Amino acid sequence: CAETIHIFSVASGLRYERLLRIMMMSVRKHTKCKLRFWLVENFLSPRFRRILPGLAEQVGFAVSRVTYKWPTWLREQTQKQRVIWAYKILFLDVFFPAEVKRILFIDADQIVRANVEELWRMDIKGHVYGFVPFCGSGPPESLTSHIWGSLTGKAAKQEDLKNPDTVGFRFWEQGFWKNHLASRHYYHISALFVVDLEVFRQTGAGDTLRDVYQSLTADPHSLANLDQDLPNYIQKNLPIYSLPQEWLWCESWCSKSSKVNAKTIDMCQHPSKKEGKLQQARRIAPEWTQYDDELQAILDKLDQ
Ligand code: UDP
Ligand code: CA
Repeated sequence: CAETIHIFSVASGLRYERLLRIMMMSVRKHTKCKLRFWLVENFLSPRFRRILPGLAEQVGFAVSRVTYKWPTWLREQTQKQRVIWAYKILFLDVFFPAEVKRILFIDADQIVRANVEELWRMDIKGHVYGFVPFCGSGPPESLTSHIWGSLTGKAAKQEDLKNPDTVGFRFWEQGFWKNHLASRHYYHISALFVVDLEVFRQTGAGDTLRDVYQSLTADPHSLANLDQDLPNYIQKNLPIYSLPQEWLWCESWCSKSSKVNAKTIDMCQHPSKKEGKLQQARRIAPEWTQYDDELQAILDKLDQ
């Protein structure tokens, strides 16, 4: 692999910075391609900024910090978490230099178990971006039935991917969202996405996202999950390419039996239970602790 894969992420606070460096290490351990991470500078702590160059050198990736001042004409967010969510999705056309033609976004609280080169090369069929549908809510082609078939001996069904414990919480399968998506669109998770920046820039997708953001946020109750609701809402204008489901597994929404196929795991919040992200990570992905120890050793060395 001679190419550099570009990955965008965001983290604020010491806990998310710890998750972020583990995510970056997990990507590094599963690809031979060169990597460049683009991190939103606004939210990083002074210590993290200081150690970042050393960390990048030790783990083996390049890093760039991106920053963008919130435009005065765009409705502001007052909650920190919502500001971060906004930065995930609203400024993809202005963050990166023109020579970056594609970008993968990966949540900080994710652990990667497969080669991201597959996403980097994936044909997203002319769409501006591709997201993974929520487990069990995607189109038939997002199911990788060859893996499923070989495991279970039968054709995979969307139902097999759902976590039975949270079926009642699947808000996009009821009420407003069910109606809005009708049978033509699917609800996708925003923890990981692939953006074709060339198509994104050419079609003015950034303006579309910001315009719709501006009109929807006139009502403070809309866009409850900002970065996720927005692209799902405007699929009529900006269709989403549905990525294969195995590219995002999360315990809250996906069945236990589908975990073996997971190419990434997001430590997403459970709709009713409360469990810390770190505790979740240790329990769900055993390799997390090993990466954490490895990184601690690197940080100790850098601190000296
Ligand atoms: N995030 C962050 N600090 C916060 C909340 C969120 O840095 O206080 C970033 C981080 O990259 C995280 C992403 O926003 O992975 C999405 O939030 P989160 O993963 O907490 O959502 P969940 O998976 O729990 O739905
Ligand atoms: Ca997440």
